[in-house]
Amino acid sequence: MAQIETLSLLGKPVAESLYSALQPRISSLLTKNITPALAVVLVGDDPASKLYVGSKTRAFKRLGLISETFNYPATISEDELLGVIDKLNADPRFHGILVQLPLPGAIDSNRVLLRVDPLKDVDGFHPTNLGLLLSGQPRYIPCTPHGILAILEHYKIPVAGRHAVIVGRSNIVGKPLMALLANKWERGNATVTICHTGTTDLAQYTRQADLLVVASGRPGLITADMVRPGVDIVDVGMNRVPDDSEKGYRLVGDVAAEEMLGRAHSLTPVPGGVGPMTVAMLVHNTVAAAELTAGGSGSA
Ligand code: NAP
Repeated sequence: MAQIETLSLLGKPVAESLYSALQPRISSLLTKNITPALAVVLVGDDPASKLYVGSKTRAFKRLGLISETFNYPATISEDELLGVIDKLNADPRFHGILVQLPLPGAIDSNRVLLRVDPLKDVDGFHPTNLGLLLSGQPRYIPCTPHGILAILEHYKIPVAGRHAVIVGRSNIVGKPLMALLANKWERGNATVTICHTGTTDLAQYTRQADLLVVASGRPGLITADMVRPGVDIVDVGMNRVPDDSEKGYRLVGDVAAEEMLGRAHSLTPVPGGVGPMTVAMLVHNTVAAAELTAGGSGSA
């Protein structure tokens, strides 16, 4: 079989075109004296979390939007943190609230996420927003799955009628993406299989994929023998693998990327694929939240 030239699905151009599309909506809010504003709650000093918060903050600043980080020590109690969320819910300066995950082990993340006002839940993790998504009427779509849809659209990777296989069933990536791809709408209509650690013989399913999305947090889990030629692959994984560079690590995905060259039709690189879109969709959702405040539709 002739070698395929694997298309690299870069996230940055997709993010830039989303920022351009948001510009008129941002300008319209500014004329009403509304500057979309995000409150970020960061607990502890996990270096990866700090890095993510930094890139989100930079994107907001670059567009002239507000992002304020509220940093608490890892020793904060769950009740104190719930008090912080209550204050931010009631604070009219902020349209969106983001609780950076993971939270320290002693804190029940579900309880904290449940406390965020669903109208300010720009991460889309509140059960109300996940329920709206599941019922096919999304308000705030979780940023990473939303970003994946935008990448597929931008690069004209078909979804409808195809067999999409998702590896990973987290509430952040796998489950919402399952709904988005399976729902009966113009961006979905795929047949979806979702795999996890309870799946017997993972390769049996991944080999059937026309579209494969991998969000397992396991570096190099998917190898060339596990996919069929011509597959489209979205690699969500973001794993730090120690090396002898100055940083002491490098970022790799969940897919053995070099093995896929010449085999996959397309692949999102790590870094530079899904990551920039997660940030862009956070901006998108915060603009939508500000529009809701202004009495607009806040379209998803
Ligand atoms: P998570 O909550 O740890 O979930 C991982 C999922 O993968 C679980 O459902 C788990 O199954 C499944 N899994 C793990 N090992 C597996 C295996 N060997 N075979 C089959 N399934 C397996 O992770 P997450 O938050 O969804 O994140 C996944 C990855 O994406 C991480 O690397 C994370 O850093 C990255 N991520 C990147 C972005 C971005 O913007 N690029 C955003 C979010 C996440 P069980 O349910 O059975 O445990």
